[in-house]
Amino acid sequence: MEAELKEMFEDLQSLKRSLHDPSIHASIVKLQLHVEHLTGLAKSAPVRRTKVKDMSAEVVDSNPYSRLMALQRMGIVQNYERIREFSVAIVGIGGVGSVAAEMLTRCGIGRLLLYDYDKVELANMNRLFFRPDQVGMTKTDAAVQTLSEINPDVVLESYTMNITTVQGFETFMSSLKNKSFRPSKPASGVDLVLSCVDNYEARMAVNQACNELNQTWMESGVSEDAVSGHIQLLIPGETACFACAPPLVVASGVDERTLKREGVCAASLPTTMGVVAGLLVQNTLKFLLKFGDVSPYLGYNSLKDYFPTMEMRPNPQCSNAACLERQKEYILAKPARDAAAKAKMEAETLSAEEEALHADNEWNISIVDDSELETVDGTTSDALPEGLTRELPEADEFPKFPALGGTSTSVDDIDDLRRQLDALNAC
Ligand SMILES: [Zn+2]
Repeated sequence: MEAELKEMFEDLQSLKRSLHDPSIHASIVKLQLHVEHLTGLAKSAPVRRTKVKDMSAEVVDSNPYSRLMALQRMGIVQNYERIREFSVAIVGIGGVGSVAAEMLTRCGIGRLLLYDYDKVELANMNRLFFRPDQVGMTKTDAAVQTLSEINPDVVLESYTMNITTVQGFETFMSSLKNKSFRPSKPASGVDLVLSCVDNYEARMAVNQACNELNQTWMESGVSEDAVSGHIQLLIPGETACFACAPPLVVASGVDERTLKREGVCAASLPTTMGVVAGLLVQNTLKFLLKFGDVSPYLGYNSLKDYFPTMEMRPNPQCSNAACLERQKEYILAKPARDAAAKAKMEAETLSAEEEALHADNEWNISIVDDSELETVDGTTSDALPEGLTRELPEADEFPKFPALGGTSTSVDDIDDLRRQLDALNAC
């Protein structure tokens, strides 16, 4: 831009020299002043970085991915660059969704699909991400503006629409099915859907779409009083869907439909929303890049700094027909899953035995199992020193969610399993 303006200034200079009529000179000088003014503006404009073809691990200040690629060197992630193959859909670009979108953009995700029908307001400024100069823009367009400046390598798709309307739901479904980004990808065109919406209807719409498409998704939410939140992994057929057990109802014991009332101003804090967005994207990265454990459900109570976890199995009496279909498929695929797990375990045992056989033990060091040590004096590693007590219950002891309609979702006992299978076959 600067170079072009400089060239224009010089062209005007030579034009002025070639013209013998001095009456035209004043107009040319005026034009030159304009060009000088524009040059000044161009110099103060933010510099946008160019696209990067391949992610490099080279440790130089100019490499936007050096700190992320270092995860490979540290042994956390096997192949970080795979992140460029993944598509993530974010529904709801509010206090949680916008921050999640920024985190994934900075991490170099391949493609982001952004859905929201709302506009940016001054009332949103207590949260992160949006700026006062974006007031009046649609949230999706404002997000694309900011995110494309942060990382031009990410493919961004903006969908300004309400997914709870008939038309909106159809567009939502077809955009999730679109496989133009990675034609070889099996099933749908996205790898994960993140629900960051603030109402029951929108959650049910995401749930319906994901159950129909057999699409894994993560749900997130922040309470109306702004001091607690949760994230949840939903794998159709394998874990509870949103209609099997709505998480907010579980967490607070209140029906969420009664929570969002017209004219009632819910509280929100950038801190709680930032924490929930962080937990959501951390689990998204673990899910996509296959490291660590992905939490099936993780709560956050900021007043106690308490993070409860639990697992929720699907409800055989779920009101969602697509959920029941996915449950059937999951049960039918159990023998194949068990065989694959057994083969994997045998292969791992074999390689561990081989390793042990060939390992040199020059110093004759023997390894003692932790549990043996613990039983020596009758105490376990969970026992606290004398005089200390636990204030919070242990996360592992968090009670399992009771199934809707009073029917147990446990498949531990064989009679129960048979009854559940019969119920499914009867559908
Ligand atoms: Zn369900």
